[in-house]
Amino acid sequence: MSDPLNNSYYQASANAWKPQPVFNGDGQFDVAIIGGGFTGLSAALACAEKGLKVALFEAQSIGFGASGRNGGQLIPGLRWSMREIDAEFGRERAQAIFDLAYGAVERVHRRIAQHGIACDLKSGHLEAAYKPEHFADMQREADFLAKEFGWESESVQPDEMGRHINGGGYHGGLYDARGGHFHPLNYALGLAGAALKAGVTIFEHSPVTRIDGNQIIAEQGSAKAQHILLAADNWMEDIDRELGGFTVPIMNYNIATVPLPDAEQLLPSYAAVADSRFVLNYFRLSADKRLIFGGGEKYVQTPPADIAAFVRKHMVDVFPSLADTPIDYAWGGAVGVTMNRLPHLGRKGNVFFAHGFSGHGALVTTLAGELLAEAVTGTMGGFDVFDKLPSRPFPGGRLFARPLATLGLLWYALRDRL
Ligand SMILES: Cc1cc2nc3c(=O)[nH]c(=O)nc-3n(C[C@H](O)[C@H](O)[C@H](O)COP(=O)(O)OP(=O)(O)OC[C@H]3O[C@@H](n4cnc5c(N)ncnc54)[C@H](O)[C@@H]3O)c2cc1C
Repeated sequence: MSDPLNNSYYQASANAWKPQPVFNGDGQFDVAIIGGGFTGLSAALACAEKGLKVALFEAQSIGFGASGRNGGQLIPGLRWSMREIDAEFGRERAQAIFDLAYGAVERVHRRIAQHGIACDLKSGHLEAAYKPEHFADMQREADFLAKEFGWESESVQPDEMGRHINGGGYHGGLYDARGGHFHPLNYALGLAGAALKAGVTIFEHSPVTRIDGNQIIAEQGSAKAQHILLAADNWMEDIDRELGGFTVPIMNYNIATVPLPDAEQLLPSYAAVADSRFVLNYFRLSADKRLIFGGGEKYVQTPPADIAAFVRKHMVDVFPSLADTPIDYAWGGAVGVTMNRLPHLGRKGNVFFAHGFSGHGALVTTLAGELLAEAVTGTMGGFDVFDKLPSRPFPGGRLFARPLATLGLLWYALRDRL
């Protein structure tokens, strides 16, 4: 495959998809959506279910962005712990955020069941403690979640970790049966198929270049829409420079091994695992028993010359027995990260937007799309919960945003090594 960043296991195991036409340069819609990832697709489907005439513009192909490349880890909640959210925003707002963010699990499960999406959904997510103090902190969070919000998870003592993982030397962990993992590209394609059935018009290879009032200007022409939904995550800056300043793209890389005969030996419960480092390792088994492993981040856009070698060293740190295991696929993508690591949803006139899920987008994007759809039909309650979260652009203007953010992230990565 020509794009070294898109040589993914997901592309190789994608469900059948009939390519959709290029925008024909004309049209009038109730809602036009820019971006064919989880956010845009979820919004498109939800808008069509509300009886709206919807067009979705995707610059490349469905799932081309982070949605078709991610680790597939379904981690309930946001990047902040509920204790942090509660302390910062107070109980009433924390409850509203909890209901939506943790309720996102049900929304994804509902979509998969309702539309029969074949995306290898598996239950079980383990957060593995890299340091003993991380485990203590996880236990405090688990107690808080159970007591204050009724969300049960299971503390796994260090000597019980073998039930879920044999490797990594982790100091205990937190197992959440409602978390899990899936094949992200097939989830995106499933949502797209459901959107088509619901009457959405999808244009692929149809990049939007700008928005002018109610007009969507694409390379091939323009369309009119009463409402426009911006769901282009890392590419927001191409369409709206101001919004682009709210996120920085952090490059992240994944590999998939050959199918492993002793896969259950490594991950006996089939749970997805993410560890508690700032630059985390995250991994899981695919349906055909490959280890899909993400590890290491790059603060520059240029990919490593050898992505497989770059990620392999992290995998071997966790599972030394895989030192000589062949890697079939290696790929990468950009994680859109905000200043405070909370998603950024909002409105500019007739344009609603959602981006910056900061590495926690696999579940929350489906929710975000549904909130966008509610917002265009005038139900602002859930949307406002997120719209009111604090957000600000990276300081120093666009020119300095990325170097500054990079310095900050390098500092956190360094702290892990101390
Ligand atoms: C390597 C990697 C691993 C990750 N792992 C996880 C994980 O395990 N768990 C988790 O919760 N999150 C993970 N994430 C984050 C998660 O994938 C994202 O938060 C989520 O997919 C964002 O979805 P989205 O629809 O908002 O954006 P995207 O999926 O990026 O979709 C945006 C779309 O907009 C299109 N587009 C761009 N410009 C234009 C334009 N001008 N006109 C029209 N279309 C345009 C793009 O082609 C793209 O398809 C990971 C991300 C990466 C990159």
